[in-house]
Amino acid sequence: MSRRRVIRSAMVAPPDGVRGRTVTADVSEDMPRGVFQVMCLSCGLASMRVEDEQLPVEVWALQHTGLHPAHRRYRLVTESFWLVTPAPGDPHHG
Ligand SMILES: [Zn+2]
Repeated sequence: MSRRRVIRSAMVAPPDGVRGRTVTADVSEDMPRGVFQVMCLSCGLASMRVEDEQLPVEVWALQHTGLHPAHRRYRLVTESFWLVTPAPGDPHHG
């Protein structure tokens, strides 16, 4: 069973030139599940970027508010990675 979750299959409503291609989450061993970073909306200071685990940036925000009690709002930026698979029969399939 594939661990890949289909994000959107081009089979649903294929625009010209994408018929049969599939977009999935890229779960390759060398790719992170996600990358997380938060930015303080009061001062613009950003946390470190963390792969695979959101908890360290949550802790960063909690500590930042501890140092600057008026800084309580943050923007979370999450990166995820996708993989496009050409359809069987496509010369680029495989
Ligand atoms: Zn701040």
